[in-house]
Amino acid sequence: MKNIVIFGAPGAGKGTQSDFIVEKYGLSHISTGDLLRKEIADQTELGKRIKGIMDAGQLVSDDIVIEMIDKAIEHDNKGILFDGFPRNVAQAEVLDQLLAKHGRTLSCMIRLDVPREELIRRMLERAKVSGRSDDNEETIKHRLVEYENKTLPVAAYYAKQGKEVKINGLGDIKRISDDIAHAIEAL
Ligand code: AMP
Repeated sequence: MKNIVIFGAPGAGKGTQSDFIVEKYGLSHISTGDLLRKEIADQTELGKRIKGIMDAGQLVSDDIVIEMIDKAIEHDNKGILFDGFPRNVAQAEVLDQLLAKHGRTLSCMIRLDVPREELIRRMLERAKVSGRSDDNEETIKHRLVEYENKTLPVAAYYAKQGKEVKINGLGDIKRISDDIAHAIEAL
């Protein structure tokens, strides 16, 4: 059973490539961003608490997303693609513990590398159709700073475990998917 993290800055193409991976390998897709946006759309108590944080481009607290991931692993029997999680080293450490609790290990972390200017260009382009309140120029900058300060160290965490697979996230979507497939099939 494969358990994979898809990693990259906001706008790196994680969502697009996640669709490809879950379809091809029959994994459950767990996107913490999607789960959090659903809480906001449903106007739950949690949704009300996190809306301002997400609109400011900041990370919500670890406890909230860890509980979501714990439940997701508990209910899964196919293997999981984690998208948007872990976002900091503390979350990465907890993920290892949660997987171990269920007799699983992480197969690999697929890292999509895209230059900063292209990330901004893509997110502004997406803003025209996404309806996401955090896809505006001001929030995009905050999200990139959060990524650089807190999330990027997660890559080093997995590199140390020999689990980091770097993929060039620039260019043709099909070529990127092919590179990812090669990496997964080499596991
Ligand atoms: P995303 O859809 O992955 O770009 O996430 C959108 C927003 O949801 C982020 O800017 C954070 O505010 C929040 N978020 C998503 N995943 C996490 C996570 N693992 N830890 C903390 N905050 C998160």
